Order: sequence, then structure tokens, then C-alpha cells
Amino acid sequence: MDTIAAIATPIGSGGIGIIRISGSAAISIAYSIFRRTSSFAKLVNHESHRFYYGCIIEPGQDSIHEKNRIIDEVLIVFMEAPKTYTREDIVEIHAHSGTAVLKSILNIVIQQGARLANPGEFTYRAFLNGRIDLTQAEGVIDIINAKTDRAHQAAAAQLMGGMKLKIESIINSLLSILTQTEAGIDFPEDIGDEIDPDKVLELLTKSGIEPLKKMVHEYEQAHIIRDGLKVVIAGRPNAGKSSLMNRLLQKERSIVTSIPGTTRDLIEDSLVIKGVPIVLTDTAGLHNTDEPVEKIGIERAYRHIKEADLILFIIDASLEINETDINIYKTISHKPIILVMNKSDLIPDNSYHIPDYWQDLLWIKISALHNLEIDSLKEMIAQTAIKEAIEYESSLIPNIRHKQSIEKSLKSLIAAQQGIEMGMPFELINIDIQDSINHLGDVIGKTIREDILDHIFSNFCIGK
Ligand code: GDP
Ligand code: ZN
Repeated sequence: MDTIAAIATPIGSGGIGIIRISGSAAISIAYSIFRRTSSFAKLVNHESHRFYYGCIIEPGQDSIHEKNRIIDEVLIVFMEAPKTYTREDIVEIHAHSGTAVLKSILNIVIQQGARLANPGEFTYRAFLNGRIDLTQAEGVIDIINAKTDRAHQAAAAQLMGGMKLKIESIINSLLSILTQTEAGIDFPEDIGDEIDPDKVLELLTKSGIEPLKKMVHEYEQAHIIRDGLKVVIAGRPNAGKSSLMNRLLQKERSIVTSIPGTTRDLIEDSLVIKGVPIVLTDTAGLHNTDEPVEKIGIERAYRHIKEADLILFIIDASLEINETDINIYKTISHKPIILVMNKSDLIPDNSYHIPDYWQDLLWIKISALHNLEIDSLKEMIAQTAIKEAIEYESSLIPNIRHKQSIEKSLKSLIAAQQGIEMGMPFELINIDIQDSINHLGDVIGKTIREDILDHIFSNFCIGK
């Protein structure tokens, strides 16, 4: 395989930047561009997995020429196969500089014969060389993308192969059903009578259907930790949605990352409240309108509401509740809601009453403008998130692809279950069981097809 290279650290973040090179030419490329600072000499030899201090140069004919072309001072480490991430020779160049310098170093590495890595290609090689299985590879994606420590830990657990073990044990049970019943099919006179459909049914249910159902359920719980609690701020125009959004984000500004694709109608941002990742959306005014641009905004708002885990339903407590408020409530009433009565600064204490039909809602009085009770609101949001995520089991986080395969696998097993109940011959039932096994194989990369692989690895960032 050819030798690949990429910047392995996020572009633009401070501190050090790492260029990673993997492949049979990695070490010779590194020798040609690395010089000791003390003597400006080439390395004569190296120990594996040890750091060397020196500089990266643009190689030339003579040392004077090279001295004039120092790109950066660096630490360099040579890691020889097979004890590396990709199981190929790897060199990492740790530079302490900005993007421009990192790019120059990468350029020189490429001039010396490496090729720019595709997204996820390092991990892909680790997978091809048998170092990790597919669920572990996806754990790497999650670690790269994880927004908080908790998500990070969960991704790490997946990397440890917790999921692989569970899937493998299900596959083994199903295989044992296949072997038992196939013996019966091939030698019906000898053992055909001894296949006990009830026993097969029990095994199928206990070690196949039930654990798969549990996994699907866990996926649904886990999305809060994976993706954050989706919180949508809804309310009529001027209720104070934008003010509340800004207020909630303000203190956490430093750890907030903006989500691309922000529109003029919907503002989306993420923050962390008490260790829980939150994705917060400010909807455009939810009122009827004929103005086309605003209409789009409102449709988007409804879509977000559909996906929301929690709605902050904000009303202007200084005004009477009107039809718009009530209509908005109708569209969100099936969701977990916190009734946020804003502009509490404008009303005297205890002069405000919650209408009967909202009596059951969790509610709070705040002032977005004057920063009153915002911390209590945050506490309520965090409590909701924890309640939603509580059943989730930390050793296991299937992602959407796992979930789809597991659901297909489950569907085949349920078909097999019905087949047995209807007294169908095992020749037919086993087709479903085999199908189910294949889908499980997809999850851990055993029988995986090329196109699925390409899709997964293209989700990585370059350099991983
Ligand atoms: P949105 O249309 O729902 O996004 O509402 P905005 O956040 O833009 O606020 C509408 C107006 O209400 C602005 O003039 C805000 O300054 C004001 N406002 C928001 N929150 C409060 C509050 O707690 N008290 C008072 N007195 N005014 C507020
Ligand atoms: Zn607004």
C-alpha cells in the first residue's frame, strides 16, 4: 500500500499540531526532511517509539542551502510496524505552530512521495490490517466528534468492543440453532423427529429477539448522550425567545461550538449544562403568516419541534395569554415542556396565575433580560436530560448504522419466530435466521460490503 499523510489535529486549534505519515515509505520520508538542531545532521538511526528533537527542512543539495530552508522546530517520533495504530510504519511530526506551517510541512512530506490521506483512511487501514473491528472504528469517529466527557467515555467503551461481544454472542446462539436444525434437515430419518420447535423458539426469543430489542431501545435512549438533548425554544413573537437563547448561551460561550447551517430563521447552538450536552434552537415566531420567507422558517420550526426532546414554551407574563400562545401550545402539547413565564420583572410577585389547562406543566418564572432565575431554569433542563437518559447503558452505544442493521436482523428473527409458530419447515425458517446473522455480521464488519465501508470511513475527518 502507498504511504499516506495528513494533519492529524484539528485545524485552527492552538498548541501543537501533528502531521501523521503511515506506510512503508514513512520512515525514509521522515529521514529526508528531518535534521538534528545541534549539528544540522541527518539522523543515522533511531529507536522506535522515541521522540527526537530537531527541525523540518525543505531538502536540498547541500546543508547550507537546507539551513536556509528550515520550516519549523519539531519533535518527531518513529513508530515501527506492527505496534502502531495502522499496523504500518508511522511517523508523527509534532510541530508547535499554526495552520500555515503545518501545511508547508505536509506539502514537503507529499513532495517526498507520500499521498494525502482520505478522511478516515488511517482508521480504515487499522481496520483492514485487523487491528480493530468496525464497531471500534466507529467508536473512533465518536471520540473525534464527542462534545463532552460523558459522550467521550461512552465512545471509548464502544471502542473497547463491548458491543462486539454482545453481537458475537447472539450470532453464536443463532448459529447453534442453524446447526441443530440443519442436522435435522439433512438426516430427517435419524434426528428429524428430535427437533423440538418449542425449544428452538425459546432459544430464538431469549438469545436473539430479546437482546436485539434491548439494543434498539438503548439506541433510542443513548442519542441524548451522543447528540445532546434537543431543546427548542418556542413562543410567540416578542415573548423573549432570542433573549433567553442568548442568556442561556452567555456564560457558556467559551465551550460553545456553533453548528453550521444556521439560517436566518432558526438559530442553533450547543452548550453544556451540568455535564449534559444540549443543542438549543430558537425558533422563528410561531404565528400564521403569508410572508413566504417567514413561512419557511415556521415549517422548519415545526420540524424541530417534532424532533425535540424538550420544549421551552415561553410566554410573556406581562401580557394576557392570547390565541397565538394557545395555538403554539397545541402543536407542542405531546412533548415534554417547561412553561417559561418571561418578563417576571414586569409583574409584581404572585400577581400572575397559570391558566387551569397549563396547571400540570412544569413551570418557572424568569426574566431573560434581567437574568432572574436563569440558573434554576438550567437546573430544570439538566434534570429533564438526566431523566431521559437514565435508562441508557454506558457500555453500549450503537450508532444509526448499527441500529438499522440490528432492526433488519430483528425483523428476520421475528419472521423466523412466526414461521416456527406456524409450523413451517426449517429449510425456510433457516433462511430468515441466516439473513439475521448476515445483518449482525454487518454491524461488526464480518461480511461487510465495500460500499458500506466506504460510506463509514468517509465520515471521519482527514488525519484519523
Ligand atoms: P422573541 O421575538 O421571542 O425572540 O423576543 P426577543 O428576545 O427578541 O424579545 C422581545 C423584546 O422583549 C425585546 O425588546 C426584549 O428586550 C424584551 N424582553 C425579553 N425578555 C425580557 C424580560 O425578561 N423583561 C423585560 N422587561 N423585557 C424583556
Ligand atoms: Zn427572536
